[in-house]
Amino acid sequence: MGAKLIDGKAIAAEIRQALKVEIDQLRKQGIVPGLAVVLVGTDPASQTYVRSKQRACAEVGIRSEVKTLPPDVSQHDLVSLVDELNQDPQVHGILVQLPLPRHIDTDVIIRTIDPAKDVDGFHPINVGNLWAGSKEGFAPCTPAGIMELLRRTDIDPAGRNAVVIGRSNIVGKPMAALLLHKNATVTICHSHTRQLEEYCRQADILVVAIGRARFIKGEWIKPGATVIDVGMNRVDGVLCGDVDESARAVAGYITPVPGGVGPMTIAELLCNTVIAAKRIS
Ligand code: NAP
Repeated sequence: MGAKLIDGKAIAAEIRQALKVEIDQLRKQGIVPGLAVVLVGTDPASQTYVRSKQRACAEVGIRSEVKTLPPDVSQHDLVSLVDELNQDPQVHGILVQLPLPRHIDTDVIIRTIDPAKDVDGFHPINVGNLWAGSKEGFAPCTPAGIMELLRRTDIDPAGRNAVVIGRSNIVGKPMAALLLHKNATVTICHSHTRQLEEYCRQADILVVAIGRARFIKGEWIKPGATVIDVGMNRVDGVLCGDVDESARAVAGYITPVPGGVGPMTIAELLCNTVIAAKRIS
């Protein structure tokens, strides 16, 4: 018996389909959800992510615009652009594609985004709302997408041991907050954690977001556990996750890479943009 695959691609397609219907209704009321994506520089990976986001917006009927700035843009000019987008009534969601060039203070840019338009959920106001358990803000898209995968697979975190490996502001920390709100007992591991394997073995739900190809081995996994592989690593041109193939023989459920968490991140971005449009309009 191998693990059942959690098909993020199919679930994301269902979410987009439902959103399309909702957006058609909103358009009849004169509301056209709009997303502005700010892309600084010419990093090919960032360009690819931005193109996927644009495609997904077009598919569901969200108006999207991409503001491309040169890699040497000044922090002042970037702040001015975000300010303009904050004021633009046609823009409901603003996303600044990360990472930004080193001469720009990312925190300053994130804090400039109007929290009501911060569909990535990175602004400190939204981070605070998330940890306080308030539904007013926006949860970051990747962990929100993972919660949706669990919900749609009928995996209830309540009372389970959830272990999150990675403590980034984008994935690990908000993931822990969301699992905690669903009553899991949550442990966060990181690069200083000793005996990582032992923590993995305790996990009923294991979320891995470290960015190291095939790092987590099958023998570290509790039989029947749900394994969520967030990693996106390129090895010899092939995309692979942070979890080794050997996990499939042990886990109960597992997300594939590609086709697991990735498509859900974009689906949640679309959802957050529609929520923003409804709140603002
Ligand atoms: P990140 O900011 O680099 O954070 C990586 C985390 O992993 C850090 O907390 C780090 O610990 C921890 N870590 C690194 N090596 C470790 C080790 N040997 N043992 C235990 N912990 C270790 O990365 P991120 O932005 O969270 O992304 C993580 C991965 O997910 C990447 O592969 C990224 O491409 C992928 N990702 C995918 C999606 C998606 O939509 N599928 C979205 C976002 C990210 P320290 O804090 O101690 O340094």
